[in-house]
Amino acid sequence: MMGLEYGAAAGRSPATLRARYDGGAIGRTSGGTGGRPPGGQLRGSYGLFIGGSFVPGSGVFKTVSPATEEVLAEVTHGTTEDVDRAVAAARQAYERVWSVLPGRERARYLLRIARLLRDRAPELAVIESLDSGKPIRQTRDVDLPLVTAHFFYHAGWADKLAYAGFGGTAAAPPNQTLPNQALPNQALPNPALPRPLGVVGQVIGWSSPLLMLAWKIAPALACGNTVVLKPAESTPLTALAFAEICAEAGLPPGVVNIVTGDGQTGQLVARHPGIDKVAFTGSPEVGKEIAKSAALWGKRFTLELGGTSANIVCADADIEAAAQGIVEGVFIRQGHACCASSRVFVAEEVHDDLVAAVRRRMAALRSGDPLDEATDIGPVNSRGQLDKITELARSAEADGAVHWSAPHEPPDRGFWFPPTMFAVVKQEQRIAREELCWPVLTVSSFATPDEVVDRTNSTRYGLSAGVWTRQGELSAWLAARLRAGVVWVNSFGGLDPAVPFGGFQESGFGREGGRHGLEAYLDLPGAWTPDV
Ligand code: NDP
Repeated sequence: MMGLEYGAAAGRSPATLRARYDGGAIGRTSGGTGGRPPGGQLRGSYGLFIGGSFVPGSGVFKTVSPATEEVLAEVTHGTTEDVDRAVAAARQAYERVWSVLPGRERARYLLRIARLLRDRAPELAVIESLDSGKPIRQTRDVDLPLVTAHFFYHAGWADKLAYAGFGGTAAAPPNQTLPNQALPNQALPNPALPRPLGVVGQVIGWSSPLLMLAWKIAPALACGNTVVLKPAESTPLTALAFAEICAEAGLPPGVVNIVTGDGQTGQLVARHPGIDKVAFTGSPEVGKEIAKSAALWGKRFTLELGGTSANIVCADADIEAAAQGIVEGVFIRQGHACCASSRVFVAEEVHDDLVAAVRRRMAALRSGDPLDEATDIGPVNSRGQLDKITELARSAEADGAVHWSAPHEPPDRGFWFPPTMFAVVKQEQRIAREELCWPVLTVSSFATPDEVVDRTNSTRYGLSAGVWTRQGELSAWLAARLRAGVVWVNSFGGLDPAVPFGGFQESGFGREGGRHGLEAYLDLPGAWTPDV
């Protein structure tokens, strides 16, 4: 059997892993179906994936490893003409093939993609770690299983949209089609059923790139839409590997198109008149710009934006468990998660115990090569992100925030920032208010549950929160009052494709995952079919 066996026999060192990857030994775990040699190989350069194959464009940029700054591949910079081509390919695929394909046929394609993702998971995890800097334990053990699960989950919905509760009821869904007396061989789609929206433009960021792609593409395809997706400039490689998987799965050309590029390419996708809906994951600033242009053009849109999630530790909490949850919630992905638990509020009585427990764990974290099995924290994703956190940390110090960083000797090259805790933070300081998408957290204490609710809700965000207490009623009381799309109790950060995820306020709106996530990709019926 081919494939990656992480462990002593396979060689755990990053150099060995990289060599095995370059040599093609890391690949699918079972045989595949043509089109691509077994074993993973990064190409030296990538075109744009339009109409089912890679096509050249006019400009290129380089994507680099944030750990070493070495160039990983040259990637094409999508221009106006390229986005036009991609949207035209998606439109044609939508009208001629995908929107008229029965749900059970769409499900078969999604299942094929899911199986290929599962087979190529070891290779995709390595590419993700190389390109994003996320440690291999995260990409391999958390991201890739979730990516695959999203495709399996949404394959299950593709032929059951009539049962999703959008028209009819689960017990009595309306008929899929109605008889057509004018053209007896051509069944009429039932207008009481939800319909796909058309061509969806999807623009995503650099934190969890392949997972963000799966969150967006799987439901869009399940509901019968076609897609033009623009990955982040600093993390395009897994989206391009996903394009290879679409081709290998025999997905009809144009159903998925991947256009790489920078923010300008993202703008071209989001503003394109041929796009029916924009689905965006990224910063609130860009999200607002997209909302404005989508509203002007009367397009549907959903925004999954940033957050600055709170972790609330009550006086009766299991302090060691809370400290572990806090460290995993923020540092393990170097803070590169919209739901990173970067604001810790701890009850005064246990403040010192919690800070000591968190510091102990921070000191034990190993930062280093993302491909090393022993690495807990990789580099920050890009020089731009490193500059942002460095500037914010300096401003916090100037504002008088006391900070502590774990011992850290960064390599000469790469974008490294030490795991850092800011204590004695005042609410009005920037470090307490702005999104921290980096390996940084702030800690402050609270006296009463009312106070912590007010302080948690005092930001412009509202994505997620954690509550640590042994009292069920207290956790329920807090969860009901926190303005956050997701509240975890005595844990932090668990995700599941069946559970909707999304925020309030400047964390965006619209949900991804579960039945609610389907709604974002469907035109719901205006006509109501009474229960029969
Ligand atoms: P940005 O908003 O800068 O970028 C997101 C995407 O939009 C990238 O592909 C980017 O391209 C593109 N883009 C940039 N400018 C424009 C524009 N004017 N019009 C259209 N597209 C544009 O965010 P970041 O890349 O900094 O992503 C991090 C943010 O994403 C954080 O705020 C994080 O919290 C949030 N996030 C939210 C999640 C959620 O589910 N709520 C999940 C993960 C992250 P390019 O990369 O080339 O600049």
